[in-house]
Amino acid sequence: MVRKRFLIHKSGCGVCGEPLIFNGTPKKMLCFYCEEEKQADVFCPNEHFICDACHRVDANDYIQKECLNSKQINPVEFANVLMHNENISMHGPEHHFLVAAVLLTTYNNVTQKYADLKKVLQVIRLRMVKIPGEVCTTHGGCGAVLGAGAFAAYITKNTALSQKTWGDIHRLTASAFLQVAYYGGPRCCKRNTFIALLAGQHWLNENMGVELEKSESIQCDFFGNNKDCIGRKCLFFASKQ
Ligand SMILES: [Zn+2]
Ligand SMILES: [Zn+2]
Repeated sequence: MVRKRFLIHKSGCGVCGEPLIFNGTPKKMLCFYCEEEKQADVFCPNEHFICDACHRVDANDYIQKECLNSKQINPVEFANVLMHNENISMHGPEHHFLVAAVLLTTYNNVTQKYADLKKVLQVIRLRMVKIPGEVCTTHGGCGAVLGAGAFAAYITKNTALSQKTWGDIHRLTASAFLQVAYYGGPRCCKRNTFIALLAGQHWLNENMGVELEKSESIQCDFFGNNKDCIGRKCLFFASKQ
């Protein structure tokens, strides 16, 4: 029996809401939804495990659909709307595709560069799902930041042999990684998404001369769902004033 995917709990375990256990050594578990046996390094005390593919498929479908209907030119505003939807969890690998898709869509709405945005989003989605969940924890590189890198790599048609663009996209990800590092853990997919979007937006302006609409300030209002929120230490914490 394959269960219908539906994210009931936005934070903690998607099935029961219990705090997740991060296991340094992965163990084989059955995914709650697809019931395939996979290596699990994150699960809950009730032995619920949701595999990466199941974790993000509904979210990524939703993000892609919204992008195709969007006229947004403000990436932060657009991401905020998406992240409030029930398909997007507090933390999760769907933020990797979200950053790339939001930057591409707002860029395209300003420049009209791509006649077939759907095709572009599908290419980017395939690239982003190659990045595992928890990559920030296990590889030292936040996947949301790599979303900004994937956006820049795509629009510059970067290849392994490129010279200028190869360096340019690493400068973008490096600047965002430094900021992510500055705030430290616990990880927050919302904070990193905002950092990645702002870095991508700034890079686009500096390197490509394309200006996306800016938000005057970012006040993150997701902290109620984030028991690991660092509060006033975060540059986006909404209750700062
Ligand atoms: Zn659970
Ligand atoms: Zn699964």
